[in-house]
Amino acid sequence: MKVLKFGGSSLADSTQFAKVKGIVDSEAARETVVVSAPGKRYSGDNKITDLLYLIHAHIKYGVAYDNILSMIKERYAEIRESCGLETDIEKIIDDTFADIGKSTSVDFIASRGEYFCALLMAEYLGYSFVDAADWLVFDYDGKVDNKKSEAKLRELKEIYGRIVTPGFYGAYPSGEIKVFPRGGSDITGSLVAAYLGAEIYENWTDVSGILMVDPRIVKDPKTIARVTYDELRELSYMGASVLHEDTVFPVRIKDIPVNIRNTNAPDDPGTIICEEFDDELEEEHERFITGITGKRNFSIINIYKNKIGENKIRLLRQVLEVFDRYDIPVEQVPSGIDSFSVVFPSASLKSRKYDLMHELTENDNIDNCELTEGVSLIAIVGRQMAYRTGVSGKIFRALGENKINIRTIEQGADEINIMVGVYDKDFEKAVRVLYDSFAR
Ligand code: ASP
Repeated sequence: MKVLKFGGSSLADSTQFAKVKGIVDSEAARETVVVSAPGKRYSGDNKITDLLYLIHAHIKYGVAYDNILSMIKERYAEIRESCGLETDIEKIIDDTFADIGKSTSVDFIASRGEYFCALLMAEYLGYSFVDAADWLVFDYDGKVDNKKSEAKLRELKEIYGRIVTPGFYGAYPSGEIKVFPRGGSDITGSLVAAYLGAEIYENWTDVSGILMVDPRIVKDPKTIARVTYDELRELSYMGASVLHEDTVFPVRIKDIPVNIRNTNAPDDPGTIICEEFDDELEEEHERFITGITGKRNFSIINIYKNKIGENKIRLLRQVLEVFDRYDIPVEQVPSGIDSFSVVFPSASLKSRKYDLMHELTENDNIDNCELTEGVSLIAIVGRQMAYRTGVSGKIFRALGENKINIRTIEQGADEINIMVGVYDKDFEKAVRVLYDSFAR
């Protein structure tokens, strides 16, 4: 049994609905479907969820919102009509908003995008509609009650068989609706897959998987065919926009693979995310790396002390304590014989720059300290790099041959990540050079 979650762009109008039906109908195992609310049809269009939040703001300030409600109704009416459905969605929407007033919670209003969408999708697919409020239970502290939610969902699945359920929300034991953070339908999908013990969690979106590198930097980069959760964590930590960790946690602990797929290109295999892969593909082995990502705007403070020797630990502690007091998150602490550096995001320095530098220069244990701003960190990530020789050589050669100066170097303990710091001006060039030397 497969669980499929469709994102907003996959549900934006009747054309997208038809693609979803084609996908679901093409495999009998595709029994359980989770839907977001209809998203943007084109850039500049509105997401239904945004319009609902806007309605809530109008209600709060006592401003008429009829025109926004009409926009929402038109979107669902188009889907109903063009898909030839009978569900009287306009009446359902009217009835819902007839009962809404100042005391209606923002979560209830926001959740209706998914609710209306799931009603239509259930009829279109010929599946049963199962309301998320009937199975996804939140404790009053806002955490999901996994035990109760799993038991209820299993019971409903047993009764109804093929089901469509809305993403993004659930309910407190009192019945009051509660939503996840924005984009939360991904979490619902993951929970459904975990609770029902799906063979796979298919997350259908508008890209054919996770790209090896930011397409704004490298044109038409390759898609990552297979990535482990650990690699994903490294990639997303350094800026790649992929599924959030919380999202995949429920399926990860059950060892259920996630497959990111493209509704607009359903034949593309997408990206598989797994705990580990026990087979090794020749291509992946040869390529070494899984992805490259990075962030700009870091700063480095270099601390020098002649013959630092055994005092190094004490000095390190003193310096880090200063960073702690200034509330500056430390990214890396590369160290040499008589020096070490502290790498941190420039944004956290703000107006504290001069005070911080003053405090460090005042320290008698420091001979000299200097600040370099405008550094980018680039993470080269790959499970195939672990315990294999030649990777860093290849990285440094590629950068050196292209006259890119490396400011910092660090390798993660599990050897699946090498991080280099370069000047911001070299950032994009460095990413391109690395991609070209590993992935082409
Ligand atoms: N519709 C909600 C949002 O726009 C949830 C989701 O799509 O995952 O954030």
